[in-house]
Amino acid sequence: MPNDSMQTSSTEHHCDVLVIGGGPAGSTAATLLAEKGHRVTLLEKARHPRFHIGESLLPANLPLLDKLGIRAEVEAIGMEKWGAEFVSPWHDNSQSFEFADAWDKSMPHAYQVRRSEFDEILIRNAARKGAEVLEGCRVRDVEFLPNDAGAIVRAEHDDGRSETWQCRFLIDASGRDTFLGNRFKAKQRNPKHNSSSLYGHFKGAKRHEGKKEGYITIFWFDHGWFWFIPLANGITSVGAVTWPYFMKTRKKPMREFFMDLIAMCPALSERLKDAELVSEVDATGNFSYACDRAHGTNYLLLGDAYAFIDPVFSSGVMLAMNSAFAGADAVDICLRQPDKAAQALRQFDRVMKHGPKEFSWFIYRVTNPTMRDMFMSPRNVFRVKEALLSVLAGDIFGKTPIWRALLIFKAIYYLASLANLRRTLTAWRRRKLNIRYVDDAEGAGAQ
Ligand SMILES: Cc1cc2nc3c(=O)[nH]c(=O)nc-3n(C[C@H](O)[C@H](O)[C@H](O)COP(=O)(O)OP(=O)(O)OC[C@H]3O[C@@H](n4cnc5c(N)ncnc54)[C@H](O)[C@@H]3O)c2cc1C
Repeated sequence: MPNDSMQTSSTEHHCDVLVIGGGPAGSTAATLLAEKGHRVTLLEKARHPRFHIGESLLPANLPLLDKLGIRAEVEAIGMEKWGAEFVSPWHDNSQSFEFADAWDKSMPHAYQVRRSEFDEILIRNAARKGAEVLEGCRVRDVEFLPNDAGAIVRAEHDDGRSETWQCRFLIDASGRDTFLGNRFKAKQRNPKHNSSSLYGHFKGAKRHEGKKEGYITIFWFDHGWFWFIPLANGITSVGAVTWPYFMKTRKKPMREFFMDLIAMCPALSERLKDAELVSEVDATGNFSYACDRAHGTNYLLLGDAYAFIDPVFSSGVMLAMNSAFAGADAVDICLRQPDKAAQALRQFDRVMKHGPKEFSWFIYRVTNPTMRDMFMSPRNVFRVKEALLSVLAGDIFGKTPIWRALLIFKAIYYLASLANLRRTLTAWRRRKLNIRYVDDAEGAGAQ
């Protein structure tokens, strides 16, 4: 039952589905469920347009934008992204990949977007399609009702007013706030991976010309890697992703530390030599985590509210939106055909686990020298390069038959690691040390 404060402090509303969070996952789910005829309320603590990191989309996002009916709007604010470039100081070349060379040639590009604009398009679309959207309204409490009767949610407006909603189904799309994950203590840090980021926006960065202008560039350096994401209207997003132990060596203010980091990567410095930093420098810990469940009685978790891996392959927004498509189907069945709910939720669960699992294998190894070699000199034996490009394009949920070629890619990686055993062991020890460092720091109460 709801607690006393939830019963007495506010007016109560009713809806079929209440969505916590209006990022890509929440707005997509709200749109789809409203289109299916459910009464949907979406509560977002911020007010759009609001800043969010995560600006590089994948080709696999585009069919989702088509289904939502917002492709043209995104095209109008986006920078076309036809591929990705990798730059390594340990190899004397840079390596470019075009999505058009992936296994399925029908998804040749994506967009780089300012998330303030992109997320606003998504949330306004949810309202247009019939969801009730309230911004500046933060969910504070939830109480699940007995006998499968749904939940009561209390939220606070930014003017201090409190309101409650009774809903039949609750969707947590609160991103890295992981509202339900924290409440259920269901969030588990991934012991195999962690990193930290520093990022800012530059004006006047040197871009490639023609089709390559909108490529994302990944620059490796001694302490991790950088992203370089050209946005429309001349701004470029640059971020460093480093081991947390290295971030802890920071003695200087954030801005200076960030510029010092950039100076450690000559290829990036060259592209920023005439550029001006036009934003604050922000930092985030990218600890990988997953919740121990993606759903329960009358609730499910979407996008980052369920799991976060790492930004290196720009998979977050696509995984969040894809989870919302799967989630909306599952919720629709739970509400209309309860006898089929278990099967629908099992299918939803499979989708939720598939994305993080497929990307993780690559993410854990992306700073490994063997993997760097394979990215810098890709060969298409048994179509492994096409399969790799399909993963980079986010084409992992459909019917594209990449799996055998990916297994071969992995076998080649393990053989090459064995052939360079000393180097492999050094990289493995370094990784272990970093993970142990984080464990020790957490044990000592550090952030
Ligand atoms: C450093 C970094 C770089 C990244 N780069 C990329 C990239 O290039 N490409 C990419 O695809 N992904 C990237 N990501 C990941 C991407 O940002 C996320 O995966 C994506 O935003 C997840 O979408 P979401 O809807 O699940 O969560 P979010 O986008 O975080 O949306 C959650 C929303 O919920 C709201 N909210 C939270 N709590 C409450 C509450 N209690 N009540 C009401 N509202 C609430 C928040 O205000 C927010 O608007 C990056 C992530 C990081 C950390």
